[in-house]
Amino acid sequence: MKPNANDIKRAINPPDYYRVALPDVPLKRIGWNDGGLCPFHGDNERGSFRVNTQTGGFKCFSCGAAGGDVIAFEQKRHGLTFPEALEKLAREWWLT
Ligand SMILES: [Zn+2]
Repeated sequence: MKPNANDIKRAINPPDYYRVALPDVPLKRIGWNDGGLCPFHGDNERGSFRVNTQTGGFKCFSCGAAGGDVIAFEQKRHGLTFPEALEKLAREWWLT
């Protein structure tokens, strides 16, 4: 059975996801954390990119990139449609 968005969100803990997606960024707090350099614009100074370890949401105050969960991050990061992002996450984090 193909996992849907809720299955994916239940299976992937946001801190685990971001430890892989942003390996150089220590996420220590519950909730919003400094996300290091923004992966969505030519960022050269930390401070504008945030990720949320509870929801998986992300937001850049410099370029405006934002999303509510790890699926949205995966889509934006890799230029994927929503179903493509679900499939990729399922493949990389799960068994399909
Ligand atoms: Zn940005």
